[in-house]
Amino acid sequence: MQNFIGYRCSICNREYLPDQVTYTCPTDGGNLDVVLDFDHIRHETTPDTILASRDASLWRYLPLLPVSDPGGEGTPLRAAGYTPIFSPSRLAESLGLKHLWVKDESRNPTASFKDRASAVAVARARAIGAEIIVTASTGNAGAALAGMSAAVGQRAVIFAPRTAPPAKVAQLLTFGATVLLVDGTYDDAFDLTLVAAQEFGWYCRNTGYNPFTLEGKKTAGYEIWEQLRNTEYGTRNSVSRIPYSVFVSVGDGNIISGIHKGFKDLMALGWLETMPRIFGVQAEGSAAIANAYFAQTETITPVVAHTLADSISVDLPRDGVRAIRAATQTGGQYVLVSDAEILAAIPQLGRVGIFAEPAGATAYAGLVKAVAAGVIGVDDPVLVMNTGSGLKDVGAAMKAVSAAPIIEPSLGAVKKYLGL
Ligand SMILES: *Cc1c(COP(=O)(O)O)cnc(C)c1O
Ligand SMILES: [Zn+2]
Repeated sequence: MQNFIGYRCSICNREYLPDQVTYTCPTDGGNLDVVLDFDHIRHETTPDTILASRDASLWRYLPLLPVSDPGGEGTPLRAAGYTPIFSPSRLAESLGLKHLWVKDESRNPTASFKDRASAVAVARARAIGAEIIVTASTGNAGAALAGMSAAVGQRAVIFAPRTAPPAKVAQLLTFGATVLLVDGTYDDAFDLTLVAAQEFGWYCRNTGYNPFTLEGKKTAGYEIWEQLRNTEYGTRNSVSRIPYSVFVSVGDGNIISGIHKGFKDLMALGWLETMPRIFGVQAEGSAAIANAYFAQTETITPVVAHTLADSISVDLPRDGVRAIRAATQTGGQYVLVSDAEILAAIPQLGRVGIFAEPAGATAYAGLVKAVAAGVIGVDDPVLVMNTGSGLKDVGAAMKAVSAAPIIEPSLGAVKKYLGL
């Protein structure tokens, strides 16, 4: 972890030493970027060493992370990340695209992208000797923290809104975390977590607020770089200079900012030549970041969030400024989708064997819209993130499909219902 030299505020650019601050900028509350010593990293490792790693998890990128090895071999903590990328040709054809990939984050140990952030936050908690780690969550961040903590015997406290989908609450409880369901929104849970952490001296993992969540999430950017390297759009020795476009759903804005940071690190190291375009997709009913993007301001005005995609239902996004820049600095954009469009995207991904929760399908819904609007053309290579498993919210999936008929157990009934 000699690569970790400090933090830089994303608002005022002030720099801090690693032990000077813990969460956000003391001057203006801005999100802090971890500053890495790229010369040191280049000295310690090479792309070829990383690409040759047999560690099929985000820990293959340890030389680029601001934590030391957290241990936990043989546990789910070591299985976070390194999710598969699929290239479903029928889905590409249905959109009229030549190149489409889906990166399936439902394959993470607790079935969402959040395992990346929680794995690295748990590593940090162990490094600083934190006894209890706490987070606010709409469900997935909590499930991930509870799961990663359980893997290594770390104590975790989770604050989630009482409306969180039952599967997510079941995960929290099964992993043995202390679970407090807040009679309020995610934003209420977030604010409560900050005061509780302060009062009781707990280490707070809250998304965006804790700089290490971004460091975990950036590993998805590393993986996209690594996994698309052998395609004609891979960045080294590539025949094509067309950057690929990455579509990602946005709530607090920490995933999109993390993927951007991953690409920025790789460019700073000289390992990535062309910055991919990054597209953020928000639900119309929870669009504080997209609203600011369209108004061309970095001032985020909170909304009263209403969307069935619970994982991206956020009044005041906690990583909004960096999330806007992820699009503006890469030639990407923001796209808004309705809940009906999100629901429609669930069976579309399902038809190629990918089961997404509503927030997971949101990125694909945004791609459908961007293609229809001509923002994405036939030749543009596109990667879509599915950020969470459909098993997280089966109620939503059932709304997106029609119910199966119930029949008598007879061949006659089969014939009758199938019209055979
Ligand atoms: C948390 C989450 C998101 C959004 O991530 P942010 O960092 O809040 O923007 C998207 N999809 C799923 C499934 C999530 O759990
Ligand atoms: Zn600052």
